Amino acid sequence: MSEKIKDILSRMTLEEKAEMCSGADFWNFKGIERLGVPSILVTDGPHGLRKQEEGADHLGLNDSVPATCFPSAAGLASTWNRDLLKAVGRTLGTEALAEKVGVLLGPGANIKRSPLCGRNFEYFSEDPYLSEELAASHISGLQEKGVGGSLKHFAVNNQEHRRMSTDAVVDERTLREIYLASFEGAVKKGQPWTVMSAYNKVNGTFASENHRLLTKILREEWGFDGIVVSDWGAVNERVASLKAGLELEMPGTYGIGKKKIMKAVENGELETAQLDQSVERLLELIFTVAEHQKEDVSFDKKVHHSFASEVAAESMVLLKNEDDMLPISKEKDLAVIGALARKPRYQGGGSSNINPTELDDIYDELCRDNTAQVSYSEGYGLGGDEADESLLEEAKMHATEAEAAVLVLGLPDAYESEGYDRTHLSLPENQLRLIEAVSEVQSNIVVVLSNGAPVEMPWLSKVKAVLEGYLGGQALGGAIAKLLYGDVNPSGKLAETFPMKLEDNPSYLNFPGDGDRVEYKEGIHVGYRYYVKKKIEPLFPFGYGLSYTTFEYANLEVEEPENGDYHVKVSVDVKNTGERAGKEVVQLYVKDIESIISRPEKELKGFEKVHLEAGETQTVSFNLDKRSFAFYDVEIEDWRVEGGEFEIAVGLSSRNLRLSETVTVEGSHTKEEKVHRNTTIGDLMKNPKQAEIIKGMMAQMDTPLTQNMDDSSDMGDMMEAMMRYMPLRALSNFSEGKFPEEALQQVIDELNSAK
Ligand code: BGC
Repeated sequence: MSEKIKDILSRMTLEEKAEMCSGADFWNFKGIERLGVPSILVTDGPHGLRKQEEGADHLGLNDSVPATCFPSAAGLASTWNRDLLKAVGRTLGTEALAEKVGVLLGPGANIKRSPLCGRNFEYFSEDPYLSEELAASHISGLQEKGVGGSLKHFAVNNQEHRRMSTDAVVDERTLREIYLASFEGAVKKGQPWTVMSAYNKVNGTFASENHRLLTKILREEWGFDGIVVSDWGAVNERVASLKAGLELEMPGTYGIGKKKIMKAVENGELETAQLDQSVERLLELIFTVAEHQKEDVSFDKKVHHSFASEVAAESMVLLKNEDDMLPISKEKDLAVIGALARKPRYQGGGSSNINPTELDDIYDELCRDNTAQVSYSEGYGLGGDEADESLLEEAKMHATEAEAAVLVLGLPDAYESEGYDRTHLSLPENQLRLIEAVSEVQSNIVVVLSNGAPVEMPWLSKVKAVLEGYLGGQALGGAIAKLLYGDVNPSGKLAETFPMKLEDNPSYLNFPGDGDRVEYKEGIHVGYRYYVKKKIEPLFPFGYGLSYTTFEYANLEVEEPENGDYHVKVSVDVKNTGERAGKEVVQLYVKDIESIISRPEKELKGFEKVHLEAGETQTVSFNLDKRSFAFYDVEIEDWRVEGGEFEIAVGLSSRNLRLSETVTVEGSHTKEEKVHRNTTIGDLMKNPKQAEIIKGMMAQMDTPLTQNMDDSSDMGDMMEAMMRYMPLRALSNFSEGKFPEEALQQVIDELNSAK
């Protein structure tokens, strides 16, 4: 603790300390004027600044000052580009400084468990590694500028349905490997200044009162040294939350929180030392933020807009491109159809909703460089789902006259938002009718989608190309034009699986749960981990995305690790074999070839995005570590590597891996297992010394059960297989009296000392 903070703390009254633990109002931390402690301003994020000047709310209802609106996290994640995310973070940091904002509330690192979650657009991925890497990059960029990040919503907030009361029931291994892993990596690598606790309960306790999550895991295990702030209104009992490790309740409670804390100190329920510790952390943060604030920061809105366009172009994913329909020549007559072409859906609803500095009109952007005719027709209304026959007729007419039709489709605002989940994955009925109608008259159809999460595409065969635009931010129109016309090569890759149908999703039977309880029964098998294992063909797999150029992979090299070390170096040559420059995401997946526990068929453990000129080759390298091979062992309460062979595969997507190699790594520590009467024969046979003892014993027993054990006949194999799961004590049961119960303990002792 610095002398300054020590001094301030020593001069604070109980009331001042208690007061500091809740916000001053909706968006400000409490300062103390008499002691020179400033108040600091926080605002939403994450993909832009939502600084409200008046009419504060946390649901995106009232307007905020204009700010650059970047693609939301679903799109940002599809870039698979750490450097770009960092640059987005830096840009947000500059805008925050210009508006005197000290902490930007984001990013969100919750895992996409179900495509129905209304807030998936604000989250990165179904995969924790991808999510943690991108969240950490975003935070690092932002904090480089001196503005704090707020990693949210910690933890297991994977649905909006009953989000303030539901209890997410998750087993420990799943929690560690999937839901917490995403936060763990972001905390360790990004070092956010603040973490926001979630609304929901986790295994019976509100996240905001969860000592295990907020203190044991976040601080003590992961080394977090910032402050924990509640989600807005997430505090259930203020004293319980403070004791659990939640420093700041937001928004301000107009004295309620303060009174509760003071009373708890006075009646001995809360120790002064604990309150002091929270206040000390708050003071540290406030002064860190204040020190980084700068006068006269300004930015060029145009420059930020064009950067947003660059980001948007990298975030969009080309899903289908039959007959090389795309890129389209700028000399082709086009029929642009769809209300979203002129009223774009570029961000999601709720607290992240920001007021953009400007907004592209998709139709205008498609017209800009086109030297032929570009017509526009509305095609469908955005107010309701019913088809309008006259709009369909008009669209058909335009589509007939043009050489190709660009259908701009997507989910209207009301379909997905913070606060509630979707109930199906379909596009609105009027848009489905539009595809049907246009496909009757035009075979060259390009669909451009604006949505925050997957939709089903029963219409896919009727169209030649599909560009998933996600919620592309304020500069989406220019990005779409650049991609469709081929000025930019598409390089976005899906950060989530698109299922053929909702029912295929692993959480389907248990989402959103019964009443206030949702059980994560699919366990670790989230997203592609499940589809791959179950051999369920998705509509588009995790990591997938097409390009206008082609890439070849060669010379995969995997270095064997040094003894007992898990640092495995991997390198591969990637060549752009097409005729245009483009970026490619090189993905690396690891598989444990043989395992004592159920593990996914493959897990993403590395990715790199490279830009390659036509004909250029680059060597891409990866550094794997212990976590690339480990699973979470609930017995030892730690990450464990089971020694043996692992497959390292690299390629273009989770289902398009080009090269693979195996590497052998050593096992890490395991729990010291004591032999007991129910230890199985099979487990004992794995240890050579113990196996000798067992074999000797069996020879002595000489019963039909043991006679055949050692021979190599079928009978021998069968007996061995049957014995494998037989507990030690069963030898006594089946020994025809030759191995009495009294001898059992003696053997157990012998086996234990033979380790
Ligand atoms: C959201 C948070 C947001 C906060 C403040 C809450 O409703 O869950 O993500 O940062 O409001 O607007």
